[in-house]
Amino acid sequence: MSTPKHPNQPLNPVRLDSQKKSRLRKKLLAWYSTHRRDLPWRRTKDPYAVWVSEIMLQQTQVQTVVPYYLRFMQSYPSIKDLAGAETQDLLRIWGGLGYYSRARNLKRAAREIVRSHKGKFPQTHSEALSLPGIGPYTAGAVLSIAFDLPYPVLDGNVTRVLTRLFGLRGDSKKRQLQKVLWQRAQELVPNKHPGNFNQAVMELGAVVCVPRRPGCAQCPWQSECQARKVGIQDLLPEKRKLPPSERVQWAVAVLAHRGHVLIVKRTESLLRDFWEFPGSQFNRTGRLRDALASHLLEDLGLTTHVLEPLVTFQHVITHRHITFVVFRAELAATSATLTNREKDMVKWVRRKDLGKYPFASASQKIIRILKTQHDLLR
Ligand code: SF4
Repeated sequence: MSTPKHPNQPLNPVRLDSQKKSRLRKKLLAWYSTHRRDLPWRRTKDPYAVWVSEIMLQQTQVQTVVPYYLRFMQSYPSIKDLAGAETQDLLRIWGGLGYYSRARNLKRAAREIVRSHKGKFPQTHSEALSLPGIGPYTAGAVLSIAFDLPYPVLDGNVTRVLTRLFGLRGDSKKRQLQKVLWQRAQELVPNKHPGNFNQAVMELGAVVCVPRRPGCAQCPWQSECQARKVGIQDLLPEKRKLPPSERVQWAVAVLAHRGHVLIVKRTESLLRDFWEFPGSQFNRTGRLRDALASHLLEDLGLTTHVLEPLVTFQHVITHRHITFVVFRAELAATSATLTNREKDMVKWVRRKDLGKYPFASASQKIIRILKTQHDLLR
């Protein structure tokens, strides 16, 4: 094996002539035909199904997506169904998958498709790109997979594979390298079976050319790969340093009363229209349960007894590490009224009806834990 070069040393640029392109395509497609995973969205070329799956797969692992995808397609089998979806139902079905603007944009785009494209996903790149939530990656994926149009794709997996294959240095998020990567992806995508080729590169990145310790010995491109030749595959793609993660603490109250439990609706843009148990971020020192009781009084006008902590767990959202402390709480006066918010922003719901409301992933975790470890929500 050749001696690894210094990480900052540039590699020789790779020429991509037609012979090399055809060799790379042939090897990859042969590998894909025997190694592809059988996934529900790969059993169809319906552009709607491809679109939904591609949106769900952004920032999310395949195993997580499968049950969400199946439930979504069952609830909204067509673009028309999605266009007419109730936002609360849509968020309930999406709840837990994260990045909720994806669900809102799917619905907005579906309405646009019904309004301007007779309910059919458009077949031109510019029309696809004009839809909410659809960028060059999703447009390329849907047009190549569903309509066999030779548009490239470039997501995290493809970026990793191509930077290694061609030995591309520099920050892969920067415009300069992005441009080179899109060019390379465009040069590689064949006119015949472009959808299979794109899926094959993504699959290679997902199961073989993984971030750490890639399985080069199983890779169909091992003899072509620049990074492997010089032993720097673990160093690519190069990344900028991320800011240190932020650590915060949330206290949450599960306030139960006569078989009902109190939930509040979120209003800030990212989690708008989701429901949660009342609580807040508390980073100050002091008794957490006193701080939570004061918050319930100030925010909801409720006098409560915050009792024992039921569960503590960690939840990570991008670079935020959140410690959730969930308390059991009781109303101090049964005649308490909700004073500070509109009635539709705060609800006493029957415990068995919690499943009818959309909850984001941290609140879903609380419900799951309390149902299995305590009888409070059963
Ligand atoms: Fe990735 Fe290794 Fe294949 Fe290169 S040889 S593309 S580093 S798995």
